[in-house]
Amino acid sequence: MRKGPATPLMRQYLEMKGRCPDAILFFQVGDFFEMFYEDAEEASRLLNLTLTSRNNGEAADVPLAGVPIKAAHEYVQRLIRLGRRVAICQQVEEASQAQGLVRRELIETITPGAVFADELLSAGRNNFLAAVAGRRDQSELGLAWADISTGEFSCAVVTRHQLASELDRIDAQELLLPRSWEPTGDGAAEAFAGRPCTYREEWCFDSEITSEQIRRHFRVQSLAGLGLAGDGDALAVSAAGALLAYLLDVQPGAGGSLRPPRAERAAEVLHLDEMTRRNLEVVRPMQAESGATLLSVIDLTLTPMGARTLRGWLLRPLAEPKAIRERLDAVEELHEDGRKRRRVREVLGEIKDLERLAAKAGAGRATPRDLLALAASLRRIPGLAEALGESEATGLAEATRRLDPLAELADLIERAIDPEAPPSLGGGGVVREGYSEALDELRSVRDGAVGWIADLQGRERQRTGVGSLKVGYNKVFGYYIEVSKPNLDKVPEDYQRRQTLTNAERFVTPELKEWESKVLSAEERIAELEQELFAQVRGEVGGQVERVNALAGSVARIDVFASLAELAERNRYVRPRVTDDERIDIRGGRHPVVETVMPRERFVPNDVRLDDEQRVIILTGPNMAGKSTILRQVGLIALLAQMGSFVPAERAEIGVVDRIFTRVGASDNLALGHSTFMVEMIETAAILNGATERSLILLDEIGRGTSTYDGVSIAWAVTEHIHGRVGAKTVFATHYHELTQIADRLPAAAAYNVAVKEVGEDIVFLRRLEPGGADRSYGVQVARLAGLPVDVIERARQILKDLEGVALGSGTRLEGEAERSRSADRWQLSLFQPVEHPVVERLRRAVPEEMTPLEALALLSELKQELGDG
Ligand code: ADP
Repeated sequence: MRKGPATPLMRQYLEMKGRCPDAILFFQVGDFFEMFYEDAEEASRLLNLTLTSRNNGEAADVPLAGVPIKAAHEYVQRLIRLGRRVAICQQVEEASQAQGLVRRELIETITPGAVFADELLSAGRNNFLAAVAGRRDQSELGLAWADISTGEFSCAVVTRHQLASELDRIDAQELLLPRSWEPTGDGAAEAFAGRPCTYREEWCFDSEITSEQIRRHFRVQSLAGLGLAGDGDALAVSAAGALLAYLLDVQPGAGGSLRPPRAERAAEVLHLDEMTRRNLEVVRPMQAESGATLLSVIDLTLTPMGARTLRGWLLRPLAEPKAIRERLDAVEELHEDGRKRRRVREVLGEIKDLERLAAKAGAGRATPRDLLALAASLRRIPGLAEALGESEATGLAEATRRLDPLAELADLIERAIDPEAPPSLGGGGVVREGYSEALDELRSVRDGAVGWIADLQGRERQRTGVGSLKVGYNKVFGYYIEVSKPNLDKVPEDYQRRQTLTNAERFVTPELKEWESKVLSAEERIAELEQELFAQVRGEVGGQVERVNALAGSVARIDVFASLAELAERNRYVRPRVTDDERIDIRGGRHPVVETVMPRERFVPNDVRLDDEQRVIILTGPNMAGKSTILRQVGLIALLAQMGSFVPAERAEIGVVDRIFTRVGASDNLALGHSTFMVEMIETAAILNGATERSLILLDEIGRGTSTYDGVSIAWAVTEHIHGRVGAKTVFATHYHELTQIADRLPAAAAYNVAVKEVGEDIVFLRRLEPGGADRSYGVQVARLAGLPVDVIERARQILKDLEGVALGSGTRLEGEAERSRSADRWQLSLFQPVEHPVVERLRRAVPEEMTPLEALALLSELKQELGDG
């Protein structure tokens, strides 16, 4: 920073800036936030502001950019979206009252992960800040994440490989990392692509310091009380403690609403890696930002906390049949009782974001209108409980039982806050009449005085006989009596001149002065008292954050149950039978998203069974037949079932899975720039290494990124490995119809195909799954459907015929090769080099019986010559 002899204002600025060096400092000067030096330059570039300069005493002028305070939130929002941090420094006294320089304080630092403002948040999503503890090369790391706008706080221990995927799941908006993670040189931290990172010294992650931090803040004797005292929890605690300290640093108010950290245990959940979430389009569409996702189809929640909970359940389904069945019971009850569901949903629609309102109150940020919204929502709670009535389902009964209406809090707010209160404090009219005697008295004094002044005009007109005499008010001179020039001779003795205008003079009287001071001092006291009373009420609400949060949690669950029940009704889903068996049996299953983008009757349902007898399904059929759809539908149905939802099927039995893996063919993934064969193989390796017997693997083409023979060989070997070693339930969609032979050779593998019908030269897609492999790829027909020119199609047909002639019996040969390589106990891709060498082809065509010995000899020498051996 370019320093120099500076004005007092600039000195104050530099001191503040020194306390938040990594943030852009918004420094209040009157009605503006000003930025100086590099901040001004950066902000003017990012926000398109005019860069000017401010005089800095004897030193060189300082670059300056400013934004009006009124519009500041828009600029802050833009900077945060760009991953910047903004520190807010406000004037904490009126310029008129300051002796010398106005006092200023750093109020907060807004960072992408530490945000309260509604404009920066989206209702249906959490805004998480995540912290990672541990060295970069450690195999296990601590991870913690918190959303200060809702008070949610969790932590876990994850493997290094899971980290990126976990950060993607919680969609962390900002990362807090130990200093040692800071990239040196150009190699930015790629695992965190696009996520703004903040680095803190290593000691901030020290396990003793952090656990002390947590104990102190949440006032617990031991971490055991938070379920975080296990041997394996130390890293999680380090991350959580570092995160807590950081949050308290940037947003001092956040401490009031943050809940104690909750430990997440891997064994309880169905793990989805980043790739799978993406491939199954769980919350984000693969291509167009606006495309449908599983979440967008199933989310019928009516409250923001319900929407966030549903999203959380979807990204973190359960793995424990009992817990899943409990959710399903609740959904079922609301599904069967349509009247109850409709009544419940009616009330839910009137409940605002209890969780964020409570967090704002806890952080001392709630506005009068926020409190009113909270009270109004609390008033709906008894109605919600009534609509729910008695429930059989434990989950529902439990949530209902916890519907604490917090009536005393609603009473307090309603008694204290004027229903017509303005959006912000300061303008008056916030505290309701009847709440405070002192306030009412002051108001009546003020109103009485105002009334007296209002009457004054009539009285003075009479007294002076001047009909045009006026009583008025202006900011500088206060109340006055105005008399026009021609009537000045009628002005009484006790009038004192205040101001001269072109056509009139303005006066005051001692009596008027006295009443005026009554009004003004009452106004001042009223403003102070209102502030005080409001702060008290807000404080009391803030003191109940925990109860409001617990309530919000119950409302959220009820909302999710009712939403899933409504979904089941609207989209004809059924309750899955969730078991501990190793069996997935789906009858009449549908793809939950694809079926919604076509007329209902057009989607063709299919059956898929995966069990001990049939653990691996090889799914063939031409491109566009519907393979990917069936494959994904199996994963989506399992995922829906394990989150506790009904599923799009006629009947479904789901033996819980511990992980779902997917891999999508390289060419299908081009849009993401992941087209290389290498990436494909890395992903496949990750699946083979990570899957267990209880996993579900969905492979959509493997080995497409290389030559056919390479591809088929790798796919073959991968399938054998999964079948023999991993034992995971697997659906493998491929357009290599050659692979269906593998189903004959492996006992627990079965071939299916998505049926097509040939009609003349065309094919018709039946979308129906049938046992057995497809006998051909139908690529040429599909190309024809796609509108390739007729001559290209004709030529392709010819070539295909030739090739098919040459490769006659290719299937048997492949099998032979596989056998040979296995017996040699190695897998050499070179064995699969194409055999159509011209020499071979000539040999093939030669008919020895019809040749003379001489001709045979000539051919032999020609062939040798062709090989370059001659
Ligand atoms: P493949 O993976 O075999 O190339 P897709 O699964 O991508 O084929 O399906 C292609 C298109 O066919 C889908 O976009 C969808 O519109 C339609 N489709 C797939 N399955 C069905 C089905 N069961 N019923 C109706 N339409 C389907």
